[in-house]
Amino acid sequence: MKENQNRRIAVFGATGSIGTQTLDVINQLGGFDITVLTAGSKWQSLAELALKWKPRCVAIGDPSKKNELKNAIFGSGIKVYAGKDADAHVAESEEYDLCLNGLVGVAGLMPSYHALSRGIDLALANKESLVLAGDLLNSIAKKTNSKILPVDSEHSAILQCLQGEQKSEVRRLILTASGGPFRKWPLEKIRNATKEAALNHPTWSMGPKITIDSATLMNKGLEIIEAYHLFKIPIEKIDVRIHPVSVVHSMVEFVDGSFKAQLGVPDMRIPIEHALFFPTHREMKLRDDDPADWPPLEFSKVEDGRYPCLDLAYKALSIGGTATAVLNGADEAAVAGFLNGRLKFGEISETIEKTLDTHNVAEADNIEEIKSADSWGRDYTETLISELR
Ligand code: NAD
Ligand code: MG
Repeated sequence: MKENQNRRIAVFGATGSIGTQTLDVINQLGGFDITVLTAGSKWQSLAELALKWKPRCVAIGDPSKKNELKNAIFGSGIKVYAGKDADAHVAESEEYDLCLNGLVGVAGLMPSYHALSRGIDLALANKESLVLAGDLLNSIAKKTNSKILPVDSEHSAILQCLQGEQKSEVRRLILTASGGPFRKWPLEKIRNATKEAALNHPTWSMGPKITIDSATLMNKGLEIIEAYHLFKIPIEKIDVRIHPVSVVHSMVEFVDGSFKAQLGVPDMRIPIEHALFFPTHREMKLRDDDPADWPPLEFSKVEDGRYPCLDLAYKALSIGGTATAVLNGADEAAVAGFLNGRLKFGEISETIEKTLDTHNVAEADNIEEIKSADSWGRDYTETLISELR
């Protein structure tokens, strides 16, 4: 490719929080031709984006929205794919040089798998891909010489802190966590917390699944698994500290006691930009920012017993094999159960734990095994939910 030629990018989950912020970054900075845009069911938003960005194709997960989408972009020459496997199909067959995966949950697995299998770099927001299949995706990336570039703010921070450093000199990675909206609630009140309270994240504005995961701290648990695979650091060297204002995005402690951290106001467009243009930083005008205006930077240890989901993620990672895929399926089902009013907040961790404890762990060395472990976790959790109410 010539020096100044645009790269072709496929944006999976283009209508979501990460997807729209990615398009905003590309709008500001250019550098990419968008060849693929996808969404789950929001056909109007996808049609608007398609007419603006003129990709070669669009994909919509919900097959019942195919005709509306087709009619809305009629005459544009843009191909339309629809259905559960549409994202996987375009990831496998369409032309692009970088995959931005902003899908939520297991829906993101196959686009990650196909992009890396084709030797295409992956800018990854969909942490679930690594939770489900970290070992497999790493081995594919190694074989095809492709890169996984983190979009998640904590992992973008760690990647930046590790630039020019030796991994053997790392004492530990410290992921920061806001602590969610229930950080100071009395423990007995958290069990019955409402959906509105759980969706009220103190610092970040994100999609509903990750927002609930942030309230239980399962999000941080998934991020520990993500960090383990991205940086190939043993689990004992990955720690979490509560940092409510989310200014320090994460840090690395080195063996001599020196710490490096990456800081900034919470805005996902910064880690998105860094993943798109890695290893460079491009000039962006987000706002005037000055450390003098930042709130005091406080840190605390995770309080025992407050966030059982975090312990479950550590447990699944130490079990290994298909345990983390089961954790993912169970978490998606439990979060959906909570959001549609069938589970209490406190029952999210309880159902996931029962599911994890019931699972017969197997090797997670092929994609079918991984998908079926995820489905088993999801189905078993759904059965537990129906037994409850
Ligand atoms: P979101 O719910 O806002 O967006 C998800 C996108 O995926 C939407 O475009 C939706 O239409 C699409 N989608 C959902 N289900 C689908 C399906 N079954 N098939 C096809 N498409 C489907 O979610 P988000 O907050 O943007 O999060 C996306 C990913 O990025 C998640 O893995 C999340 O953990 C991660 N992440 C998000 C943030 C953030 O600030 N939002 C930060 C860090 C990491
Ligand atoms: Mg994060």
